[in-house]
Amino acid sequence: MLNIPDSPHPRIVIIGAGFAGFNLAKKLRKKDFQVVLIDKFNYHQFQPLFYQVAMAGLEPTSIIFPLRKAFQGSPNVHIRIAKVTKIKDEEKRIDTTLGEIYYDQLIIATGATTNYFGNEDFKKFTSPLKSLSEALALRNEILSDFEQALMTPEYEERQGFIDIVIVGGGPTGVELAGSLAEMRKYILPKDYPELDEKEVDIYLFQGGSRLLMGMSDHAGKKALSFLRKLGVKVELNKRVTGFDGTFVTTKDGQKIRAHKVIWAAGIKGNCLDGLSNCEIARGNRYLVDEQHKLKDFKDIFALGDIAYMKTEKYPNGHPQVAQVAIQQSNNLAKNLIKNKSNAFVYKDLGSMATIGRNKAVCDLPRMKFSGFFAWLLWLFVHLMSLIGFKNKIFVMLNWMWNYMTYDQSLRVIINTKEKPNSTRIQKT
Ligand SMILES: Cc1cc2nc3c(=O)[nH]c(=O)nc-3n(C[C@H](O)[C@H](O)[C@H](O)COP(=O)(O)OP(=O)(O)OC[C@H]3O[C@@H](n4cnc5c(N)ncnc54)[C@H](O)[C@@H]3O)c2cc1C
Repeated sequence: MLNIPDSPHPRIVIIGAGFAGFNLAKKLRKKDFQVVLIDKFNYHQFQPLFYQVAMAGLEPTSIIFPLRKAFQGSPNVHIRIAKVTKIKDEEKRIDTTLGEIYYDQLIIATGATTNYFGNEDFKKFTSPLKSLSEALALRNEILSDFEQALMTPEYEERQGFIDIVIVGGGPTGVELAGSLAEMRKYILPKDYPELDEKEVDIYLFQGGSRLLMGMSDHAGKKALSFLRKLGVKVELNKRVTGFDGTFVTTKDGQKIRAHKVIWAAGIKGNCLDGLSNCEIARGNRYLVDEQHKLKDFKDIFALGDIAYMKTEKYPNGHPQVAQVAIQQSNNLAKNLIKNKSNAFVYKDLGSMATIGRNKAVCDLPRMKFSGFFAWLLWLFVHLMSLIGFKNKIFVMLNWMWNYMTYDQSLRVIINTKEKPNSTRIQKT
């Protein structure tokens, strides 16, 4: 049992403390609801900066925020760290790894997970980047492989340790590729003078005809040119068809020896068991109406990446980005507090991606630009979006230090629980 005290107020259970769930719980603090916020982790994660943790550019703790600290002094918010396993809507209860709990209103904000499109090998052997622990695992893999490469005199075998393939040319793939290229340029010659950095190949394979499909054509072209200047081997219309942990194969017959393949090629909604009568839309997302309510359910809502809301302007659902999750939770909070049914209207504030030092692309509603000012804006927006004053300061200091010294002293291998099926583990 989750041991939540009785309350005279209606109970709102929120599953997921990501951008949507966390923000909603904040808005419902000190209101006439009993709020139960359930997440697998005891912290809120800032996913847009995962790649910097993976590239040893930021401390993991500077991009997360402990839930209990965030809700200090909010007696109506109860936090439980558990995985929700099933929704039993007829009984208005959910099952969790800690037991079951009753709800008056249920908010599903479970986000999205990596989509391997049914390929078991990709799932088994590639590295995803959807959680902080995956970012840390990737950091360990990259650094451990450089260490292994030092002890591998044979060229072909060494390539396997140092070459990296990134699949997917969306913001995550582009940001990772740029960051890796800078690591190769600035860090490798200093940390690993025995390795020839020119031997390190970074591949970015994009199945579509351009990078950053969710952004403008201008942004896609600029990102391509920035990455190529940094020496990343970007290939468009390139489909990866197989990976066995040692060799990557592509549809056009290319075979590359690389132990590290980073999978940034797709996501799908984190739907939960139960709710057999609900409609699941494209991308494994719950179909919701404009008031965020699941179709045919009067007391279950979905927000953020997991929600698929068709509107005139967004007939294929809203983009799966942080602003949508935040704005949806703001609208639902207002509706719940004021007992209203206002329809959600998304205000697109723009999108951006950084490619490296002084290089970013930025699509604002009225203008598109790239380069140094886009990069400055990217830094500012991400800094401001981080939760917690300490996190903002630490990240800013890290970035300043990195900018001035071209070096970061976070390249430590701290072993977390590794993938049991990792080829690397089998080898050692
Ligand atoms: C690497 C990466 C980079 C990104 N970069 C950007 C960017 O630059 N700009 C941008 O706008 N967006 C970016 N995004 C997308 C953005 O992070 C998401 O759109 C946003 O996080 C969605 O918010 P959410 O609340 O719907 O889900 P999330 O923030 O994903 O939160 C879901 C929460 O639910 C919890 N959860 C899931 N299942 C369960 C369960 N069964 N039981 C209990 N808890 C559960 C998870 O632990 C998590 O805390 C990025 C995403 C990734 C992965």
